[in-house]
Formats: sequence, C-alpha cells, structure tokens
Amino acid sequence: MMTTETGTIAFLGLGHMGAPMAKNLVEAGYDVRAFDVVPAAVEAIAASGVPTAPSAVEAVRGASVVLTMFPGGQQLLDAYRGVDGPGLLESVGPDTLFLDCSTINVDDAREAAGLAVEAGHRSVDAPVSGGVVGAEAGTLTFMIGALEADLESVRPLLEVMGGKLVHCGDHGAGQAAKVCNNMILGVSMIAASEAFVLGEKLGLSHQALYDVVSTASGQCWAVTTNCPVPGPVPTSPANRDYEPGFAGALMAKDLGLAMSAIESTGVAAELGPMAAHIYERFRDEGGAGRDFSGIITEIRDRSQRAD
Ligand code: NAD
Repeated sequence: MMTTETGTIAFLGLGHMGAPMAKNLVEAGYDVRAFDVVPAAVEAIAASGVPTAPSAVEAVRGASVVLTMFPGGQQLLDAYRGVDGPGLLESVGPDTLFLDCSTINVDDAREAAGLAVEAGHRSVDAPVSGGVVGAEAGTLTFMIGALEADLESVRPLLEVMGGKLVHCGDHGAGQAAKVCNNMILGVSMIAASEAFVLGEKLGLSHQALYDVVSTASGQCWAVTTNCPVPGPVPTSPANRDYEPGFAGALMAKDLGLAMSAIESTGVAAELGPMAAHIYERFRDEGGAGRDFSGIITEIRDRSQRAD
C-alpha cells in the first residue's frame, strides 16, 4: 500500500539551498526539525521560525523522513554511518525514508541507498536544479532515483519545494540525470562563450550574433537564458558583472562528478573532461564565486594575450 509521509521531517544541512527549502516546508504546515553542523546556520533558521534540534541524532529521532542537503557524498556517507558517534541510520526507527537532495557522485548515491536499505530503511535520491532562487520560490526541479512507492510517499513534500519532478529510475538515477545535464551545460557554456569572443574578433555585435544563434541551430540555454555577454538577455548574470546565478565552484564540482562517472563507466567522452579542466582552472583563478558564464572573460583575456 502506498502511504504519504506525514510525520516529522528531520532537515539536515541548512546552507544556501537547505535553509529556504526547510522554510518552505514549515510554511506549508510540515513538522520540521532542522539541524546543521554550523551553529550560525541553526541560529539563523531558528530566527526565521523553523524549529531546530541541538544535534543530528536528536533531529532524526522519531522522524519519518530524514532530508539531507549536504555539500557532497562524503558528508552523506559519514553522517549515515556515524564517524565520532552514532550514525543517522541507527538513530531512527525502522522503515524511515532517507531523502537526499544533495548533488553527489552516482556511486556514492548508490552506496548510501544500499546502506539505508540494508539497515531496514527506504531511500530516495532527489538532486535539484534551479539554484537559490528556485529554492526560495519553491520551484526547483527534482531529478529522482527511487522505487515508485517511495517517490509517491514523499511527492507532496517535494511538490512544496519544487515545480517539477522527474522520476529517472531506481536508486542513483536522479544523480545520474543531474550529472549528464550539467555536463551538457558546462560544455555548451564554453562553446557559446568561445563563439561570442570569436564574433567580437570578427567584428560582429553581440546583439547580431544573439539574434542569429537564438533562432538558429546553435540555440541553447547557455545563450537564450544565461547569455554570457551583457545586453541581449537582460536577466542573465553577465548584466551584473557575473554575480551568480550558478557559481563557477559548483560547475567545477558537478563536472568533477561527471568525470568520476565517465571514469567508472569507461565512456569515451572528450569534451566533458576538457570542460571539467577548464572550469577547475576558472574556479582556481578567481571564478569560484562568479557565475559560470564568467568563463567568457577568461577566454577573452587569453585571446587578447595571443594578439
Ligand atoms: P552549502 O555549502 O551552502 O550548504 C551545505 C550545508 O550542509 C552547510 O551549511 C554545512 O554546514 C551542512 N552540513 C555538512 N555536513 C553536515 C552534517 N553532517 N550535518 C548537518 N549539516 C551538515 O551548499 P548549498 O549551496 O546549500 O548546496 C547544497 C547541495 O545542493 C550541494 O550538493 C550543491 O551541489 C547542490 N546544489 C546547489 C545549488 C546552488 O545554487 N547553491 C544548485 C543546485 C544544487
């Protein structure tokens, strides 16, 4: 029988994404208990009216859902197993649903799901796209890897935080879809940026190139929504000196996850690894906190040096 989870939601990881997501759940009437290892994050969310717990173990005790929004897979596996104390998996009642919304390695996601199931629980991986703006507005897209019945049991709470849910397959499939999508995004932003710099060298105005590409076969999200030059798309980060948006550090992280999936599957990809290298350099040379479309400034600088 399919049931909907209505008990307490332990919400762990109250960073840029987790804090607004937790707030939306509380505003929708869910019983949330929030915790973060950084005390300032707990204090900030308590001040905005979200109930908090003094530790992870106390947050998850008696919860029906344990929702995690962590930086990476290592934090998730450590938290599930426990490092210096009891792990989350042993601190909850039987058949608890572990819902991980972090963006992590596909292999780590499958390992985490395996640990949860082995401990008598259920697991859903549901990484998101849509950024902080989508988290605040409750319009995230969730890419979901789970058994159908487990997805249905958390669908109502995912619908509070997101506008679109895509069931991609079994455990790990949500992370797999996320990594593939972001590899396309990283490669296409580099391609679009190289084309705009080439257009500049060839004497084309940004608007002219945009007017052609946006309606021709080069059309893509990197051009029509997140255009790397100011002007043609007034809402793109290029118009505010590349304030993110989607930060270069996160693109470098996601392409690193794509790299590890490429290595573990043996796919003969060439552009994905090249994009991973280009975004690592962008991150290390000042682009970590800039929107990833700021890659165009690096391409332009290096092009000028070659003049
Ligand atoms: P963040 O670093 O701001 O927040 C992560 C939080 O997790 C931190 O506050 C950290 O202290 C906390 N944390 C780590 N280990 C913990 C533990 N064991 N228990 C409790 N709390 C713990 O990161 P973010 O920007 O909120 O992103 C979270 C996840 O979402 C990442 O995996 C990221 O790749 C993904 N994501 C982010 C964006 C974005 O635009 N920021 C967009 C899509 C996906």
